[in-house]
Amino acid sequence: MIPYGHQDISKTDIDAVVEVLRSEFLTQGPAVPRFEKGIRELTGAAYALAVNSATSALHIACLALDVSPGDIVWTVANTFVASANCALYCGAKIDFVDIDLQTYNICPKKLEEKLLSAQRSGTLPKVLIPVHFAGRPAPQQEIWQLAQKYGVRIIEDASHAIGAVRHQEAVGSCRWSDITVFSFHPVKIITTGEGGMALTNDTQLAEKMDRIRCHGIEKTAALEKSKGAWYYQQVALGYNYRMSDIHAALGCSQLGRLARYIEKRNQLAQKYTKAFAGCSLQCPGFPEDGISSWHLYVIQLAEAGKRRAIFTHLRTMGIGVHVHYIPVYHQPWFQQMGFQKGYCPAAETYYSRALTLPLFPA
Ligand SMILES: *Cc1c(COP(=O)(O)O)cnc(C)c1O
Repeated sequence: MIPYGHQDISKTDIDAVVEVLRSEFLTQGPAVPRFEKGIRELTGAAYALAVNSATSALHIACLALDVSPGDIVWTVANTFVASANCALYCGAKIDFVDIDLQTYNICPKKLEEKLLSAQRSGTLPKVLIPVHFAGRPAPQQEIWQLAQKYGVRIIEDASHAIGAVRHQEAVGSCRWSDITVFSFHPVKIITTGEGGMALTNDTQLAEKMDRIRCHGIEKTAALEKSKGAWYYQQVALGYNYRMSDIHAALGCSQLGRLARYIEKRNQLAQKYTKAFAGCSLQCPGFPEDGISSWHLYVIQLAEAGKRRAIFTHLRTMGIGVHVHYIPVYHQPWFQQMGFQKGYCPAAETYYSRALTLPLFPA
């Protein structure tokens, strides 16, 4: 079966991991800061905090922004459940914004309408989590402007979008958000096995996320001097969300091939689009204002009624098609919160016709 996505592991990657295994530090060594530095240089963000998954990165991002019980968080209906779960971990309520049927991303117009009506009813969210679906950058400037106007903080879920660019700005720069999150799961653009990263330009948010990823513990030179070299203090409730050096070494090695991956994915996406010219299905668009990282190539079939048969037929032929995504609020866990079917009509229309075709560098 040709999978819908697959990692690309080179001899250099394997050597990099083996080198860590032979070294002094398997975790909390030099590979993690090296990987973080590489991601800072790529994106221009001031701070990069490696963690053990993008899900953890979303969680520490929410905690750093003080998402708590009584708060509301919005994300987009067309995403992986993790974009919503991070709010629930903090005891907040979740709500969903509908998408644009052309870009498959959050629709800024629907967002504005929803914000206006939430302002009227006093139910504005504390945080909005837009997603750069399939690697296509969401209209981040527009989203940021709305967020400023309504006093909403922004976490970009860029799990699909490392290496993507919009208006000459690398996704991850955090120019139009408070925090951006990357995923390094093997189906994503580059991998660490499991892993994620939270990026920000805000010193306080960076310090908070740094503490939360390691038990809420603080260890400073001043403390050591006054109390002794063994001394540390827990000042908040944190977690063990650290990335290991084994994972980070793979990430560093993969990062060196990111530009080639993006180029290859763009070529392959173009090849699909060319091949489908004149067909009745809708191909995903190429952004005019930037570069998609093409994590996924999702077509929309002309008829929703045939999706199941086409899906099954392709799978039988060894082509590992998939569907991204079931609207999050269709999941039983979210249904019991009272979300009705039909809540985000565009995301539902999109979902009924969507089919993800295999796309990966090899
Ligand atoms: C993959 C993914 C995540 C979670 O990433 P992990 O690193 O597996 O935790 C979150 N959001 C989106 C949109 C994703 O695709």
